[in-house]
Amino acid sequence: MIKKLNMLTSAVLLIAILTAGLASFQAISRFNDQNNRAYLISAGQMISQQLADRIPADRAVARTLEAFSHNQKTLRATIVDTRGNVVFDNEADSSQMDNHLFRAEIALAIKGEGPGFAIRRSNTLDTEMIYVAQLVPELDLVVRTSMPVYTSQGPLRDMLLAIGLVLLLALAVLILISALSTRWITRPLQALNAAARAISTGDYTVRLHQLDQDDNEAAVLGEAFNSMADRLQQTITDLEERNERLAVIFENMSDPLLVVNETGAVILLNSRAKAVFGRDLDPARVTYPLVLLTHSEATDALVRQAIEGGQTIRRELPLQTVTGAAVFLVIASPVRTADDPGAILTLHDITEMKRMQKLRSDFVANVTHELKTPLTSIRGFVETLRAGAARKPDVADRFLAFIDIEAERLHKLIQDILILSEIEEIHADPHSQTFDLQTLVDAVAVLLDDAASAAGISIVVEENDSPLTVSANPDRIKQVLINLVDNAIKYNQPGGKVYIQTGRQDNGLVAISVRDTGVGIEPEHQARIFERFYRVDKSRSRDLGGTGLGLSIVKHIAQLYDGYATVESKPGQGSDFQVFLKI
Ligand code: ADP
Repeated sequence: MIKKLNMLTSAVLLIAILTAGLASFQAISRFNDQNNRAYLISAGQMISQQLADRIPADRAVARTLEAFSHNQKTLRATIVDTRGNVVFDNEADSSQMDNHLFRAEIALAIKGEGPGFAIRRSNTLDTEMIYVAQLVPELDLVVRTSMPVYTSQGPLRDMLLAIGLVLLLALAVLILISALSTRWITRPLQALNAAARAISTGDYTVRLHQLDQDDNEAAVLGEAFNSMADRLQQTITDLEERNERLAVIFENMSDPLLVVNETGAVILLNSRAKAVFGRDLDPARVTYPLVLLTHSEATDALVRQAIEGGQTIRRELPLQTVTGAAVFLVIASPVRTADDPGAILTLHDITEMKRMQKLRSDFVANVTHELKTPLTSIRGFVETLRAGAARKPDVADRFLAFIDIEAERLHKLIQDILILSEIEEIHADPHSQTFDLQTLVDAVAVLLDDAASAAGISIVVEENDSPLTVSANPDRIKQVLINLVDNAIKYNQPGGKVYIQTGRQDNGLVAISVRDTGVGIEPEHQARIFERFYRVDKSRSRDLGGTGLGLSIVKHIAQLYDGYATVESKPGQGSDFQVFLKI
């Protein structure tokens, strides 16, 4: 822009200077022309005067030339009679010269309308000449004075050269001044230009400060620019913040999240997705197909379906993760990223939920089976009684006793199921109170003493020096003790012993240990005996009135109090069940 302005002002200045030069050239040459004419007229008049005084032509001319010798101009004088014959010429042989009657200046002079003027090429001297002819009426002669045009223009040329130089100098100075003033005037524009460039490179903090207060347009422009920059900066900051928030949300989603394009390439994924599939991808640098990540064609199909159908699709899919096989609820929703169709995939791990579902349905199946067994027995006995056994009192009594045992088993089973489902549903026991655990242990020992004695087993409570105060629901802890001691009696042999020991550990947990000298448990069963309905010896357990839920109840109560249950056992030597509780 400055360049253009400079060029424009230079052109204007050049035209102005040329016009000024031309005008002065014309004025000077007009002045010079008049000067020369006046010179030639006065020289002619001097010659005429002398001719009139009867001084011979050659002398008159010589004198005149002498008189005008201070002037460097060369002068030619020609004297012609009114018939056009050349009488005298100081520079040529008059006898050789042709008739001059029709020379324009001479013709004009003869007409008697004052001096005749002409400028033309002289045939005699072969040069451009200026002629002035004057009539000397009393002698019927015409005195013509002339001089070469170039001679007359010599000083003029010098003068014009000087003017030209001055004008050139003026032009240079003016161009310089105009360039400087252009720069000065366009200063706000330059500042604006620099600021706009800075913004285009991402520096949104730039503002125009030195606004020319006197220059209204520049000030208004600067203010408009600054307010535009303010809004731009605000918008960019808002967008950046929003982007950051979205990125944080995206990154910290607990579920894997992926954006896939139409060709099935991953274009965005969060850290959870990278962790789950064990691939530290940067989709901005490497195109990575979804199928290589999930190892499942089904995810690709889901993406295609979502894009083509234009709606969200959910499907449960088994996928391979770094930690092994897992089941995901995959939700594919169509999205458009930069005008390209794609899909956003959310993967929700439902492996645990599925496992729980299976456990529940297995439990229902187990419960149904467990309930069916005593019921079938009861119905069998009842039918036998109806068929006639009822009429035989001793047989009837036996059958009724069997029915009683089965009914009791049923009752116990239902009771255990209820306890188990109750514990599973709560996460903290609401009926917590402070009590002495030792006292509770003693009470349980007394409660089960009859059963132990009947089996020929003795219960040994290893007493503590001081009471062990705990805070829990005593009914739950009692349940733990009863289940463990009952098992220690059941899976024991006559003469066997059951040791009960309690204590608080350094880590603050209360440990309850129930050790027996019974049958023990094979290592392969030890890990599974805490599962519901798991029994090492099913018929033995049934015969002993077990439900297969006792240890499962113990484990769940331990978990309710942020603890756990373990077993150490040697087949044929006995078992040591330990429960650790935060009570
Ligand atoms: P059950 O009602 O069958 O006793 P539990 O859940 O209490 O059910 O126990 C599960 C299984 O663990 C039992 O069937 C038994 O095989 C084994 N078991 C439990 N306690 C002992 C123990 N003290 N000694 C040996 N085996 C035991």
